[in-house]
Amino acid sequence: MWNTLTISDLAARLGRREVSAREALQACLDRIDQVDGRLHAFLSLDRADALAQADEADARRARGESADQPLLGIPIALKDILAVRGQPLGCASKILHGFISPYDATVVEKLKAAGAVVFGRVNMDEFAMGSSTENSAFGRTGNPWDLDRIPGGSSGGSAAAVAADECLAALGSDTGGSIRQPAALCGCVGLKPTYGLVSRYGLVAFASSLDQIGPFTRSVRDAALVLHAISGHDPRDSTSLPEPAIDCAAAIHGDLRGIKLGLPREYRIEGIDPEVKSAVDAAVRQLESLGAEILEVSLPHTQYAVATYYIIATAEASANLARYDGVRYGLRIDGDDPIEMYARTRGAGFGPEVKRRIILGTYVLSSGYYDAYYLRAQKVRTLIRQDFLRAFEQVDALVTPTTPTAAFRAGEKVDNPLQMYLCDIFTIPCNLAGICGLSLPCGFTREPRLPIGLQILGPPMGERTLFKVAHAYEQATSWHRQKPPIQ
Ligand code: GLN
Repeated sequence: MWNTLTISDLAARLGRREVSAREALQACLDRIDQVDGRLHAFLSLDRADALAQADEADARRARGESADQPLLGIPIALKDILAVRGQPLGCASKILHGFISPYDATVVEKLKAAGAVVFGRVNMDEFAMGSSTENSAFGRTGNPWDLDRIPGGSSGGSAAAVAADECLAALGSDTGGSIRQPAALCGCVGLKPTYGLVSRYGLVAFASSLDQIGPFTRSVRDAALVLHAISGHDPRDSTSLPEPAIDCAAAIHGDLRGIKLGLPREYRIEGIDPEVKSAVDAAVRQLESLGAEILEVSLPHTQYAVATYYIIATAEASANLARYDGVRYGLRIDGDDPIEMYARTRGAGFGPEVKRRIILGTYVLSSGYYDAYYLRAQKVRTLIRQDFLRAFEQVDALVTPTTPTAAFRAGEKVDNPLQMYLCDIFTIPCNLAGICGLSLPCGFTREPRLPIGLQILGPPMGERTLFKVAHAYEQATSWHRQKPPIQ
């Protein structure tokens, strides 16, 4: 079953000609046919285009162009927020109905250059706003461990597709947790890179100062391979860091002697599920037994992070989403004059959560409220970043739960936005600070059996440390090898 392997395993077999890229892709397509009717990770899929890419990868290998190309022929699915030339780009929203991308996102261009087979449009919360993928305009995605539960969000389709073996890896985007939270709830590895390390060119903007693209994979090493392929400076993104692509493979070895890990005191909150707490406590003991020194640290402004995020993210979203006006993109519903046309188009095209955020964001930016909300939130954001930078003077990385609970039931929080917003309490501060974070499997709840995620946070450009710590833990445990029951 080629579709169930890690990238590293499949790459080795492709290299030995045990399997072709076409056969590997076909195994993914067969798996999609088998389970996706129930899982609903994919919104659409251009099979002919994917098969053509796989054949091209096989031809490149036959021509001897496979040296240093670990992604050659590897099937990777894309969240419906990334531009692929000639393919639909919908952000799981009705407002982009019929829109086709005129160009490739930088990450897509880079993956294609590396020979990956980039295929499919996977489901998400509309415009990446949500934590459960229930805000998709095209129906929810199931969690492969229990279809009645949510896969997390907003990149729920990416996480579910990787966990259910429909692809070898997927890309998602993370503004406040949208890679790490679904990775935790579906039992895969998810990485939010340092802000600016991966180009946002061709990523539809939600909150531009927070958004980052990153991989979902079935192993820590695989995430490093994808990161290496997609990272590096891009002149087309003005917030892109002046750094080359980052290769963390060399950092993946050895034990953790000499590494200091911090446990943030403020992350020990009430409302955290006891099974999540005990899994994370056990993971910390495991890390200690691998040689790491464990210290308690303080991030005193943590309690303000969710409120700060919902001011800054909504403010940026209200500005970014102003462009969907019925003139330039997708849906248009005519009216007697342009104002009525805008109102009808936006009224019909956006779902309730997107509307809520546009209204909130417009409010916090409006004159009279700007100073009280937006400006103040920016100041608190700086304090949150300083908390982290100070902590990283004492420790190499921080260890926390990724989420307060395992996957909840579909429908359980849809009528309570605040409950939904609190799902990201441990992931949001990382985006506000612009640092890097990774989630990897660290256990299961008992009844029902659902994955639990461990989050490791590192300083800006501290990805090598994240990968070293995560890989050492992964090697010492077998959580990442468990497969969900969906058949
Ligand atoms: N769940 C958070 C939100 O709804 C984060 C989303 C994201 O990271 N895109 O905004």
